[in-house]
This record gives sequence, C-alpha cells and structure tokens, in this order.
Amino acid sequence: MDESSKQQPGPGATFADVVILGASFAGIEAYRLLRRNPVTRKLRVVVVDRLPDHGYIPLVHERVCGRIPAGTSSLPTRKWIERDPRAKFVTDTVVGMEPERGLVHLQASQAIKARFIIVALGSSVAPPTGIEGHQFLACLKFEPDFEQLRARLNALLDNRKPASSIVIVGGGISGVELAGDLAHLRRQKPVGWQVPRVTLVQSRERLLPKLGRSAGAKALKKLRAQGVDVRLQTRLLSAQSNNVSLQTAGGAGSETIACDLALWTGGLQPAPILAKLGLPLTEEGWLRVGPTLQCFAEVKPRMPEIFACGDAPRVFGGKGQWPTMQRAIECLWQAQTVVKNIATLAAEPAGYPHGVPPLVPHKLRTDFFHGVSVGAYSMITYGPIALELGPLAVWFRRFLMRQYFARYRAE
Ligand SMILES: Cc1cc2nc3c(=O)[nH]c(=O)nc-3n(C[C@H](O)[C@H](O)[C@H](O)COP(=O)(O)OP(=O)(O)OC[C@H]3O[C@@H](n4cnc5c(N)ncnc54)[C@H](O)[C@@H]3O)c2cc1C
Repeated sequence: MDESSKQQPGPGATFADVVILGASFAGIEAYRLLRRNPVTRKLRVVVVDRLPDHGYIPLVHERVCGRIPAGTSSLPTRKWIERDPRAKFVTDTVVGMEPERGLVHLQASQAIKARFIIVALGSSVAPPTGIEGHQFLACLKFEPDFEQLRARLNALLDNRKPASSIVIVGGGISGVELAGDLAHLRRQKPVGWQVPRVTLVQSRERLLPKLGRSAGAKALKKLRAQGVDVRLQTRLLSAQSNNVSLQTAGGAGSETIACDLALWTGGLQPAPILAKLGLPLTEEGWLRVGPTLQCFAEVKPRMPEIFACGDAPRVFGGKGQWPTMQRAIECLWQAQTVVKNIATLAAEPAGYPHGVPPLVPHKLRTDFFHGVSVGAYSMITYGPIALELGPLAVWFRRFLMRQYFARYRAE
C-alpha cells in the first residue's frame, strides 16, 4: 500500500487483542480454539472476511449440482461469531497491512489494530491470465462463485431449452468431481433441469495426477461409464463465450469445441491480497512462514505476533520448504499450532521484557486419506491405494461435513 493511503488508527479504529483475517477453515478454527484455551479465552477477537458465510468447499461440486441443499452446507459465520460478546465480525475486504504497527487496513471500515494477527486468507482458483479468453472460464470455490454458477446452471439446464454442453478444464480432484456430479444429473437432478453433455479436458496423460495411478485409472473408467467425454493429454489453448480451442497430445492437432459453459478447475493460486500485506513471500507468492507458523521467523524475532495458517502459508525450515498439504484438515492442524503459540506469547507481557519465549513447531504431515466422488461412485485413496466404495464415500463425506459444522454450531 502506498504511503498516502495509509490510515491512522484514529478514534474510529477497532482495537483488539487478536485479529483473524479470513473466516474459512483455518480462520474459524483458530477463533474456536482461542475460545477454548484458558489463556486466550478472554482476549478480544475481531474476525474479518469479505463473506459472511463459510460454504463447505470440499462438497461444492455437489452443492452446485443440487445434490445437497445449499442451506445445510454452509455456516453463517458472522451470525455465529457475533453471539460472542468479546468477538466482532467485520464483513469487509482486507486491502493492506502494516505489520510493524499491528495494523490491518480494510476497504470500507476503519483500520484494526491488534497485538496478534492471524492471516488465514487462503488461496484462490483462477485461470492464468496468459490464457486467451481466461475471463470466459468460470471458477468454483467460494460462495459468490457458487451462487453465480448455480444461477448459470439454472438458466442453461432449463429443460425447455436445447441440450447444452459443458467443458471442464483440469483433471485433478476438483475437475473429476465436478464432471462426475454433472454426469450424475442423469440419475438425480433438480426439477426442471436437463442433462448436459460433459467434456473433461486434462493436459496430463492421466487423471488425478496428485493421487496414485490406480485412482486416476478408476476415475477415468467411472467417468466414461457415466457418459463424460474425457480428453487426456489435451491442452486448453483459448476460450471464447461459446467455445474452447484445444490442442491434442504433443501439439499434433487442434480442435474447437462448442460449449455453453467452460469451467476452470486447474490448480490453486495465492489469494491476490497476500502480495499486499508486507509479509515475506515465496517466489510463487505464498506467505513464507517458519515452522512455528510465524511470518517473521527470525532468530531474534522483531514481530513475533504475526502468524499465518491454512492454504496461504508455505512452511520453510530444516532442509527448505515443507511438503504440507493444502487441505481442510491441514488448516485445522495449523490453527492448533498457531493458537498454542499465541497462548504462550499472551501469557507474557507485551514487549517481552524477559525475552520472547520459545514456541512449538508445527508437525509436518505429508498425506492423509482422500475421499473422491465420481458421480454415482466414490473411492477412498491413501498413497498408491485406491479403494472403490460405490456410493459409500459420497455418503461418508456428507457425514463428515455435518460433523464439521456441528462442532461450530455446538459452541
Ligand atoms: C473445489 C475445491 C475442492 C476442495 N476439496 C477438498 C476436499 O475434498 N478435502 C480437503 O481437505 N480440501 C479440499 N479443498 C481444499 C480446501 O478447501 C482448502 O484447503 C481450504 O478451503 C483452505 O482454507 P483456508 O481457511 O486456508 O482458506 P480459504 O478457504 O481459501 O478461505 C480464505 C478466506 O479468506 C477470505 N478472503 C480472501 N481474501 C480476502 C480479502 N482480501 N479480504 C477479506 N477476506 C478475504 C475469503 O473470503 C475466504 O473466506 C478443496 C478446494 C477446492 C477449491
């Protein structure tokens, strides 16, 4: 942020002990744990997010296809946090930060000054701007994406209209699951919808490249059995409002496919705001944190009270960058480390006259079970193992979602 736009923490500023930026998996878990810890329980907490609700991202493909009701698959975060008299929820966009002053700048509200800052601003799903026509590719992660896509599907799949065609670009977990759920409309669909033709485009030689080969092969078989046209080793060249241009393996041929909707499910990118916070970054633009999840992980810490957790940070320590997972469960684990460390610091007077106490490092976990749904089918994978479970894992993941929300609603 430039010097002229810096706000002073004037009379309208909000003062807090802890400010949590981002109220998705990592941010709200940090809030919940702060309230449960005897040292941090009484701290004044401000939570900031541009969105007042936290939709369940792991099942966003089912939500958008109407397989699960939207209302039961999100948490009204603002309402939930505002029940707490020592907490405040600010629905606003973070636009900058002055770490050395403990100040967070917001788009519409006054700045927030806090002793502890937890950055949980996550990641975003967006096509690279270098792809011609990238603006025609719809994405799906947060509630506004979900609502827009749902409205588009409602209009497009109206069964009084001619049959439509949808292209999904990206054969990772999100692309496979979305293609599977769109194909599943043959068996179960919202009233008045028709079934679209679905094409899944994957640049690599197999689906689910981050999972074992067997998972990729099984997903391919199940998608094709449900009528999805899967194109492997095929790269998106450009998109228009009504078609996509593709290049097949080794640049051998190109093809233009007419489509009513093209969806991008390629990899995650750092949330754009991360670059504007004045915090150390990796080359790719993620927050560079130490094993204690502190943003300024120095031997003699100058700013020990700024932490990051969730998708936003990359942990560096020991031999270099840790291979952490960008997954919901990892967000919860990182929130635990952050709150433990804040409790240690909060037990000391500000300014640390006796020195900054040692903090605990986060524990590295490189893998965890994946539940992958492929329309009517599902599998659980772990390392190279992929176990087909029919519809069982679809049901189990909904159960996990209910359990996840129940632990917040119960507090
Ligand atoms: C399609 C999809 C499917 C997935 N499926 C699974 C799965 O099955 N299992 C699994 O474990 N993981 C899954 N993940 C990964 C999981 O969703 C992420 O790891 C998790 O959402 C990260 O949580 P987070 O709290 O770090 O940040 P995010 O969920 O990225 O949330 C960031 C928050 O910050 C807010 N924010 C961002 N910028 C600003 C700003 N400038 N001002 C104010 N607020 C801002 C956003 O509104 C949001 O609430 C999936 C991800 C995607 C995209």
